[in-house]
Amino acid sequence: MYKDLEGKVAVVTGGSKGIGQEVAIRFGKEKMAVVINYHSDEEGANESVEAIESHGGEAVAVQADVGSEEGIQTLLDTAVDHFGKLDLWVNNAGMENQSPTHELSFDDWSKVMSVNLDGVFLGSKAALNYFVKNNIKGSIINMSSVHDKIPWPTFAHYAASKGGVKMFTETIALEYAHKGIRVNNLSPGAINTDINAEKFEDEEAKQKTISMIPMNYIGKPEEVAAAAAWLASSESSYVTGTTLHVDGGMTLYPSFEKGDG
Ligand code: NAD
Repeated sequence: MYKDLEGKVAVVTGGSKGIGQEVAIRFGKEKMAVVINYHSDEEGANESVEAIESHGGEAVAVQADVGSEEGIQTLLDTAVDHFGKLDLWVNNAGMENQSPTHELSFDDWSKVMSVNLDGVFLGSKAALNYFVKNNIKGSIINMSSVHDKIPWPTFAHYAASKGGVKMFTETIALEYAHKGIRVNNLSPGAINTDINAEKFEDEEAKQKTISMIPMNYIGKPEEVAAAAAWLASSESSYVTGTTLHVDGGMTLYPSFEKGDG
């Protein structure tokens, strides 16, 4: 636990399930106040609120599409109206779908970009604007992916969006460092959530993924949440613009493991 997080106010986008839910619950354990954003899963968002409150934190669930300026403004307004301020913004919401690139519809490309990249821009902009105007040394965490580094054929739009998130993160980290605002890129590998559920129902596909992970297992959302808590805390006070891979070694070129090559 990080003592300095107690009483801090965070917005977590896509907080109704998966990694976002675990990040929100971890913040509850840190006794923070959390605005839980959800898109359509109100029940999941209410579960997050209950879990946070049961750990001694405070929470409120808010519906919003992260790809819309109005939605993002509602999240910021809720943080300030309910909890009096904003200290931390976690751009976690994300989506993916698969298609050979020569058949990828512009509509599917645009949907992924809207959530994964526009959403990160809009959320970061709202948080930065608030931090600058109120002279707050706040922090932003952007949920990227190992595919900000590893190319992913048939997921070109996803990989492009996450590569964009990484460079966007580095750029705004540099732009606002002199104000004491920190911005970091949290980059998970294969984590056990709904985004992978269909694929991992197929045992062969699951084992194939595990074979690409030097630590030999699919990660848990709690393991990403632990990294988010550290990045949010003052224990990482000198860390900005970095990419923290939480991936069991997936980005370490596992095919070279036995000294081949
Ligand atoms: P998930 O599908 O369980 O959760 C995604 C969340 O994003 C959901 O709460 C969903 O409602 C929300 N969302 C989608 N569109 C939205 C919109 N327009 N507005 C608001 N919220 C929206 O997946 P997850 O694994 O928990 O993914 C969380 C983040 O982690 C994503 O950015 C994803 O790309 C990233 N990630 C996941 C993995 C993994 O293996 N699970 C790996 C790398 C990166």
